[in-house]
Amino acid sequence: MLRRAALNPERTALVFEGQERSYAEFADRVRRQAQLLREQGVCVGDRVGYLGFNHPALLETLFAAQTLGAIFVPLNFRLTAEELTFIINDAGIHTLVVDDALRPVLEPARDKLCCQHFFSSESEAEGWRHLDSERDAAEPIAGPVSVDQHDIAVIMYTSGTTGLPKGAMLTHGNLLWNNINASMAFGGTRDDVVLTAAPLFHIGGLNVMTLHAFHLGSKLVLLRNFDPALVLENFEKYKVTHMFGAPAMFLFMSQHPQFENTDLSSIQTLICGAAPVPESLIELYGSRGVDFCQGYGLTETAPFSAFLTPEFAISKLGSAGLPPIYSDTRIVDPDNKPLPAGEKGEICLYGPNIMKGYWNRPDATAAAIDSEGWFHSGDIGYLDEEGFLFICDRLKDMVISGGENVYPAEVEGVLYKHEAIAEVAVIGMPDEKWGEAVTAVVALNEGKSLDLEGLRDFAKDHLAKYKLPLRLEIVDALPRNPAGKVLKFVLKEELES
Ligand code: AMP
Repeated sequence: MLRRAALNPERTALVFEGQERSYAEFADRVRRQAQLLREQGVCVGDRVGYLGFNHPALLETLFAAQTLGAIFVPLNFRLTAEELTFIINDAGIHTLVVDDALRPVLEPARDKLCCQHFFSSESEAEGWRHLDSERDAAEPIAGPVSVDQHDIAVIMYTSGTTGLPKGAMLTHGNLLWNNINASMAFGGTRDDVVLTAAPLFHIGGLNVMTLHAFHLGSKLVLLRNFDPALVLENFEKYKVTHMFGAPAMFLFMSQHPQFENTDLSSIQTLICGAAPVPESLIELYGSRGVDFCQGYGLTETAPFSAFLTPEFAISKLGSAGLPPIYSDTRIVDPDNKPLPAGEKGEICLYGPNIMKGYWNRPDATAAAIDSEGWFHSGDIGYLDEEGFLFICDRLKDMVISGGENVYPAEVEGVLYKHEAIAEVAVIGMPDEKWGEAVTAVVALNEGKSLDLEGLRDFAKDHLAKYKLPLRLEIVDALPRNPAGKVLKFVLKEELES
């Protein structure tokens, strides 16, 4: 980004809520913030966190941390104080920047946090240092420290294949490879205009197009939140060429009354991840001259490990596409033996985009990345004869609701504390609006009763809203195998029938 600023200082880097910032201005703010962080004692390898909605301050904090060789840790703004405390302390965050709107969430937990410095991003508040004024007063730092492609750039928290959040360590090289892969899949020039409405704390929002835009030296239109009307308005206003989103976002946009009258002629490609794009949506956008490039990946793969380019959208409908350059995909059986085309097994991924490992979790890293360097995704799928990847199911016990990952073990751990609950299993049931609905299947203690509202109310202080059950099913007992493991597929079949 600093190099782009040296090459094209006058070009617009960022547009946020009507305000435009050139590359020179953006770089100047980053250099000042880097100096401010250095004055707080932030050194190579220290963790700098950001909690907030999409905002230029998040990106400035990221680049400022990286200018010092420090590691950026974005935090999900939907989490509760309890969930954030775990992550902040697990990552050992040295300095934390918090969006105004989220200070009240974190305030009660401040005493329990390991951070040495707390900054508030937009306005002054008692007990918080004010980022804007302290940054503006700092002298811009001369240049970035030198980093290697294998050094850690960001730690992004995800639960991987098991319940507790783990920090996926993504290197500078991992992030850059996604940009190279993106350029090869759907092009990109400095004249592009990229719109980001997906959350920047997630790898999809951060790296698919946002960092790619700065890599190219193009313009980023950043929205604080996803709002279909605002996205459509900005498409026209800024002649947007690319946007990344989950299929649900493109569906909500197409259902908005403004969709029909919005001029989409500037759009070159919409980039979609998290789930396959349904044929009806491909046809609807296609009739307006807009194509989808679909991708498959995970936080741990920075993210894309397969691309389905628009020419295959219909002939390979439902496929996640082909691996990018220097990457490979294979399907293995439970003994890690590769399976032939057409056979289903666990999807394993290889390439320069695979994370370094999980922060401070050597065992989890060894379980996820095998001795040959293949990352085990926890997804089930197969390759067809031409090498196109099809995703069928998840080996990992994960529910994806509204684009957010929910780990049943974490939700079950909280629900088990409810006095009415004898047994609980959390599963994902198909849902038109959310993709999957977090469903709690419960066996009650004798003489007790429970309703959905009561259950959500009980759990709301411990779990982010998106993790709270949307459905409650009461059963006499949970089906278990002889070893006592709950048979979730039996529960799913019973509820579906
Ligand atoms: P995350 O780490 O939050 O990016 O979540 C990664 C998970 O999202 C993967 O392991 C898959 O289960 C799911 N996923 C991502 N892309 C696709 C896709 N194109 N089709 C189906 N599932 C996907």
